Amino acid sequence: MEELFTDILVIGSGLAGILSALEAEKFGLKVVLVGKFAIGMGTNTSMANGAFTSANSRFSKEDHLRATLESGRGLNQVQLVKNLVEKGPEAIEGLRNYGVPMVERGIGYVVDRPEASSQLAGVLLIKALVERLKSSSIKVLPGLVIFDLIVEEGEVRGAFGFLKDGKPCLIQSKAVILTAGGAGAIYRRNDNQKSILGDGYALALRAGLPLFDLEFVQCYPFVLAEPRLSTFILLPPYPKEIRLFDEKGEDLSEKLDIGKDLTRAVITQRDTFSISLFEASQKGDVYFDLTQVPEEKWERYPLNFLNKSKFPFRERPFLVSPAVHFFMGGIEIDEHGKTGLPGLFAAGEVVWGIHGANRLGGNALTECAVFGIIGGQSAAEYVRQKGGGESPANLLSETSVRKWERKARNYLKKKRGPFDHPVDLLVNLKDLAWKYAGPIREDGLMKEGLAQLASLEKRIERVYPATLRDLFRKRDLENVALLLKAILNGSLLRVESRGSFSRRDFPEQDDQNWLKNSCYRLVKGDLEITHRAIGI
Ligand SMILES: Cc1cc2nc3c(=O)[nH]c(=O)nc-3n(C[C@H](O)[C@H](O)[C@H](O)COP(=O)(O)OP(=O)(O)OC[C@H]3O[C@@H](n4cnc5c(N)ncnc54)[C@H](O)[C@@H]3O)c2cc1C
Repeated sequence: MEELFTDILVIGSGLAGILSALEAEKFGLKVVLVGKFAIGMGTNTSMANGAFTSANSRFSKEDHLRATLESGRGLNQVQLVKNLVEKGPEAIEGLRNYGVPMVERGIGYVVDRPEASSQLAGVLLIKALVERLKSSSIKVLPGLVIFDLIVEEGEVRGAFGFLKDGKPCLIQSKAVILTAGGAGAIYRRNDNQKSILGDGYALALRAGLPLFDLEFVQCYPFVLAEPRLSTFILLPPYPKEIRLFDEKGEDLSEKLDIGKDLTRAVITQRDTFSISLFEASQKGDVYFDLTQVPEEKWERYPLNFLNKSKFPFRERPFLVSPAVHFFMGGIEIDEHGKTGLPGLFAAGEVVWGIHGANRLGGNALTECAVFGIIGGQSAAEYVRQKGGGESPANLLSETSVRKWERKARNYLKKKRGPFDHPVDLLVNLKDLAWKYAGPIREDGLMKEGLAQLASLEKRIERVYPATLRDLFRKRDLENVALLLKAILNGSLLRVESRGSFSRRDFPEQDDQNWLKNSCYRLVKGDLEITHRAIGI
């Protein structure tokens, strides 16, 4: 087993992870940054449209606070939102200092990109930060998949995982910053990177931390839904010549009362817009028509992305659909990025609290920037108080190291007998998620989903790692099944609709009874869900 020792371990190399690592390094501490793939790759950050909502010369901090709270429908953690609003402009300035080209636009800032470039803004953002990492002392470990957080005597002391060659790896660390992103790819229809499967949530639950509001899953209104094309997100700004219609040819912008400005609707009414589009798509196909868009707009962002495809987007309408985009729920942090477990800090999409029942467009990247920095600073302060700089070895006893060696062997243990292929099981889970825990939920369907999940769980137990890939796949299956169980059970209990959470059988928002956050815990392997009134 590979053993490493460090002051701070950062799990996840998207925007939140890289920024927290860079920030912690400023304190002169040893920092290790890990990701499932090459640093910055396979992250949702690299897919992003590069929009950061934040106060600017035309959009005040009061405007930002109001818009975020309105969008969150009473479930936001107000103190965290205040931090986001207050520190947003400074964090964006910090990105500029790291070489990210940020320009003011709309209700915030965007990563500036050459007009004719067909590189995603998120890639430009990540590239600048990865360049900055090269001149730092941060040790990067690409291709390390973390399986467990190490908790001893009530505090986090590192993490355990497998390297891409299958070697088990134990990292002892005085503090850990969890920035492992969301879980959009657990759904059949999603616009996330395919490896974003909720590992961070599963790591936290198994380490004994509660998670909050997992039932709130945001959809994005438009991804490509043509059968042979990937479910690629159709990014704003949308040209005014665009038409959105159903299979009878009826104009959906009018019918669904969306108004003429699709771009604004996507940013500020993402929840209601996606839900009504999903409803429309259940009755028949939904199309985008770009045939009236003038020639010159096809050379510019974002339509120039579609030029790369052989599909005749300019010549005929094409199928679109809503898809899962973002998880509002996750780990509770305080305003310093601390979780309830000493030694564990968190930032980015894995965290809960800022967005309430529905995230305002552009607030996710601002959240990663603000709380990435805060998490890095707080973790560094914590380590300093523990005597950072001294040799970080031997946080774990010999007995404990032996225990992790045994655990590693256990993960790799081969069993005999028939088993389902993990790839097929993951497809089954994703279908189940979309069908039973999708944009609109209802009692009977969710109960049916839970029954099917129980039988899938038994098949997952029997999977053994015949190859190295299967070892990772089996962990994915366990994580996805755990998360789905939580979402389905939590959604059954919330008998109302709010923001991006929609129940066909309870269509109204019920402030009288449901101005509450849902709290999920694993107690001796069983999931427990309780509710906490706002402000308590
Ligand atoms: C298509 C698309 C466009 C978007 N556009 C915008 C936008 O314009 N503005 C906006 O505000 N938001 C946008 N979002 C949302 C935003 O991009 C994400 O919420 C944000 O980038 C998440 O960043 P993160 O650092 O938390 O996680 P990510 O960037 O997703 O990174 C997660 C990291 O964790 C690692 N990881 C996960 N599990 C493990 C494990 N077990 N072991 C080791 N490493 C692990 C991954 O490998 C990865 O490195 C968009 C999202 C999508 C999908």
